[in-house]
This record gives sequence, structure tokens and C-alpha cells, in this order.
Amino acid sequence: SQNTFETDVVIIGGGPVGLFAVFELGLLDLKCHVIDILDRPGGQCAELYPEKPIYDIPGFPVITGQGLTDNLMAQIAPFGPQFHFSRMVTKLDKLPDGRFQLTTDADETFICKVVVIAAGGGSFQAKRPPVEGIDAYEGKSVFYAVRRMDDFRDQDVVIVGGGDSALDWTLNLQPIVRTLTLVHRRRAFRGAPDSVNKMEDLVSEGKISLLIGQIARVEGENGQLSRVHFATEAGDVSLPATRMLPFFGLTMKLGPVGDWGLELNDNLIAVDTEKFATSVPGVFAIGDINTYPGKLKLILSGFHEAALMAQAAKKIVSPDERVVFQYTTSSTKLQKKLGVA
Ligand code: FAD
Repeated sequence: SQNTFETDVVIIGGGPVGLFAVFELGLLDLKCHVIDILDRPGGQCAELYPEKPIYDIPGFPVITGQGLTDNLMAQIAPFGPQFHFSRMVTKLDKLPDGRFQLTTDADETFICKVVVIAAGGGSFQAKRPPVEGIDAYEGKSVFYAVRRMDDFRDQDVVIVGGGDSALDWTLNLQPIVRTLTLVHRRRAFRGAPDSVNKMEDLVSEGKISLLIGQIARVEGENGQLSRVHFATEAGDVSLPATRMLPFFGLTMKLGPVGDWGLELNDNLIAVDTEKFATSVPGVFAIGDINTYPGKLKLILSGFHEAALMAQAAKKIVSPDERVVFQYTTSSTKLQKKLGVA
């Protein structure tokens, strides 16, 4: 049916590691489909910190989360991966012929020879403030991440929280907003001391306000926020607000990945460090979702894991083909695949 796809490899998760896996698999002629709950590629980089600089990607002294995502998309474009966004992989079954069948919550079925789980922190979700009716404002005037800074330009912004996200966005948005109030339930902040100092400076210069209190109630119409009420030591305080950014942390839930019979270790998928294979032959796990002795949850580790995984995946998809190790610099074969020769 039109909802069934057959391919060599299905990659669960379109974060930086899932994206780079398309490249390494593509060099070995393996075709991929990529499935992600988010509505666009990039995983944590695109969802949690698109405009923040990353300083430890080899070869890039500095690159933003979105910049890295855009570059990876350009790098894998020659391999024509098929993306399926805004759907969650809910089931993984083994077929009698040895292949795998994946099912999504959008009623699709994927049949493949190899499954690569690049599910990162799992199906991560921002924690909601415990306020009645807040869901009506989400995505319109209440956001749990800053996708475009311009959405906050000339707005009355309330940022709630005491960690790095709350502090960073207070500092970054302050120059472009109409007004900004940072609200935290206590005077002490968890974020980087330097950010706390910078924030305090803005308060003493009168450029932002700081309120110690807890969010109690939101007011507005048709998804557009107009006021937010807080419980403070001095009683109920309300602020005019057209945008609110609550940073109450994220819940990193393993999600369905935990129900597929794979060996887990502290809610992460146990793998070896030769192939990054899981306890089920044909199923690999790379990036933040896996664990092994010495594991570092860094993007560069995931890239390395993708390269080694691809070699092992190739042997499963084409057991009789001999793979010759080649450099992209000097192999015309590889360059043809990349469309540059
Ligand atoms: P993720 O980026 O988490 O992507 C996994 C994707 O899988 C997600 O999009 C998720 O929606 C999807 N998914 C999960 N389960 C399913 C399912 N069942 N069905 C469909 N889709 C699913 N790392 C560095 O190396 N350097 C840094 O400077 C750095 N800074 C960071 C700053 C912040 C604020 C944060 C939060 C992280 C930072 N990291 C940094 C960590 C880095 O972002 C992660 O290591 C990286 O994103 C892991 O990539 P990934 O592809 O494994 O997983």
C-alpha cells in the first residue's frame, strides 16, 4: 500500500548522528529512510539550541546547532534520504524472512534489512508549568524553545526558570524585546555564574526586571497571551505579557524504544564498540541513545559510531560484496556517489 516503504536501512531519529549515518551508509550504497517525532531535522541541536554556538565539532571552531544541521543536510543530500517527520516509531518487529518491520503512529509500515536507532535522548518533551489551560497558548505565544528570535522582537516577554536556558535567553533576547521579565521561584540561580552576573547587571541598569515568585495563572484569548499572574511573598503580582518562555526542564523519556526487547543499561541501549550493535542482530544504536564503557554523549562520538556501524550494516545488506576501504579524497567511485566526479 502507499503507507508501506521498503528500504535497506531505517534510521530512527534525525538528530545530528542519524543524519551523519545517512552519509556513511550512503558511501556504501545503502539507501535510508529517516523517521523523527520532530517536524524537522537536527534533533536536540535544532530543537533545543538552534542559535547556540557549538565549539567542539572537528574542523569547525564555532558553529550553531542550526548551522551544523544545515551543513549535515547539505552533506547527505547526494544520497537522497527519504524523511518522515512528525511521526514516532512505535513498534519494531522481526519478520520471518529476517527483515524488520517498523510501525509509526501515522499508520505507516517500513520494511528493512537493518534498523539504526539514533533516538538520542528518546522522545524528549519540555515540562509544562503546572498552570491550567496553558496548552491553548503553546506554539502561539507560549514557547518551550526559541526557534526564531524574531518571534520575540518588540514583544513583552516573560521568561520563567533559573537554569542556563532561562538565563541565556534572557541575555540573548533582551536587546530585541519591548520588555523582559525573568521570573524564578527563588533568589538563587542554577545557571553559569557569568550569566547570572550579566543578568544582574541588566537588572541594575533597569533593562530587564527580575521577579521572585511562582507562576499561578495565565490570561489571554485565542492562544494570544495578555497577562501572567504570579504568587510572590508580597502577594499576587501580574505582568502584561505577549510571549512567555517557561524553562522547567525536559523530560527525556526513552519512549517506545524501551519496549522492543533490546538489552538496556540505565535506560540506554547497550552496544559493543566494534559495530555498535544491540543485543538484536541487525539492530544498531548510535549517538546519545547508546551506552558502552567510556561513552561520551558528544556529537563527535556519534559520528564515529555511525562510520563503524555502516561497515557492519553493509555486511548484513550485501553479505557477498567485498568492501574496499577508500578515502573520499582519492576515490573516484566515492566521488561519483557524492556527485563531485
Ligand atoms: P538527538 O539530537 O537527541 O536526536 C534524536 C532524535 O530522535 C530526536 O529528534 C527525537 O525526536 C528522535 N526520536 C527519538 N525516539 C523516536 C521515535 N521512537 N520515533 C521517532 N523519532 C524518535 N554536544 C556536543 O558534542 N557539543 C556541544 O557543545 C553540545 N552542546 C549541547 C548543548 C545543549 C543545550 C544540549 C541540550 C546538548 C548539547 N550537546 C552537545 C549534546 C548533543 O546535542 C547531543 O549529543 C546530540 O544531539 C546527540 O545526537 P543524536 O542524533 O544522538 O540525538
